[in-house]
Amino acid sequence: MSTSELNQDLSQHLATTLGPVAQALEAQPGLPEVMPETAATERVCFFDYPLEDLSARLSGMGKERFRAKQLYNWVYQKRTHDFEEMSNVSKAFRSELPMLFNFDLPKPVQELKSVDGTRKWLFDVGQGMTVETVLIPSKDRLTLCVSSEVGCNMACRFCYTGKQKMKRRLKASEIVGQFLHASDSLAKDGLRVTNIVFMGMGEPLDNPDEVFKSIKILHEPDGIGFSRRKITVSTSGIVPLMPRITEAGVRLAVSLNAPNDETRSKVMPINKRWNIYQLLDACRAHASASGDHVTLEYVLLKDVTDKLEHARELYQLTKDVPCKINIIPFNEHPGTEYLRPDPEQVVRFQNELIRLGAHVLLRRTMGRDIFAACGQLTSLYEGRPEKLDAAGIATSARH
Ligand code: SF4
Repeated sequence: MSTSELNQDLSQHLATTLGPVAQALEAQPGLPEVMPETAATERVCFFDYPLEDLSARLSGMGKERFRAKQLYNWVYQKRTHDFEEMSNVSKAFRSELPMLFNFDLPKPVQELKSVDGTRKWLFDVGQGMTVETVLIPSKDRLTLCVSSEVGCNMACRFCYTGKQKMKRRLKASEIVGQFLHASDSLAKDGLRVTNIVFMGMGEPLDNPDEVFKSIKILHEPDGIGFSRRKITVSTSGIVPLMPRITEAGVRLAVSLNAPNDETRSKVMPINKRWNIYQLLDACRAHASASGDHVTLEYVLLKDVTDKLEHARELYQLTKDVPCKINIIPFNEHPGTEYLRPDPEQVVRFQNELIRLGAHVLLRRTMGRDIFAACGQLTSLYEGRPEKLDAAGIATSARH
């Protein structure tokens, strides 16, 4: 299905089923079209160009294609933005480059460090809008959670970002920029990002062209060289676009959050468009084509999704999907209708899944002191009316 067909299909269906999401989508241009062609001589952001596109652009200007690799090497590996330092590039070409490319990236406006090692950056992406990036440490990993949109249209009812309508889809450079800044900041402490998850603000498959372009840039061996197997794209379930995750060679996470269709439709409106069975079929297809398991994220909402009967239902539903189930106790945030489950119930739920034979992990709550739940810091920064109570700050209970 083409992007424009999908836009039409999604908008039409949402218009008849989803109410607020449909209104939000109507107010927006739908799923993004491919970026318009840029005139060969127009000044563009270097960080929006995967290597092959950069080669094509330079070749369209009569330059040798290998120049693209040289530039990639200088910019991403030697980390210079000064064309004059690019000593193996001819002087004549060096003098042209500032007219062709800029190195504009989102501006970091805040960096917070939690006592537990979690870090959070807030980036200014223009016009008073901000996005958040979170670094989540674990025993052997430093996982960077990047945002793909300002706000989100999917309106998942447990998610703080979902309460902030989508204002803009990020460009590839704005996604790559989150990684570059976090990497530079960590390097000062002798640390480096080991994994990247598209699990920050926004639904990545609502911005697929820029998300997959950013993945190409992050992966390019002549540039950053980040392994595709260390990159995970998480979706709330835009099923027709999930094969693009498989094609990109990255890992899949799905925000499942309910053991049946009825409950999932209540907590995640997207389920009214693509139901839980279609979603799990897409997971099986990914697992079969990639040889990889899928991560199923499951938020435990007190009395809504956390009962033992839900654990059994969840097991029956997913037992033939090659998957790990990541359970996440919900943390309350301002304005939420849901409650955090009792700790004993979380353990009972986990143990029931283990007893049945599921591969299950319990995600620890981290970064409570730095507003680590996506969307919370943005709300503070943009002066939204909600008052945040630090005691109620949640980790990312989202896709
Ligand atoms: S969980 Fe993800 S898809 Fe759902 S509203 Fe939040 S950011 Fe959007």
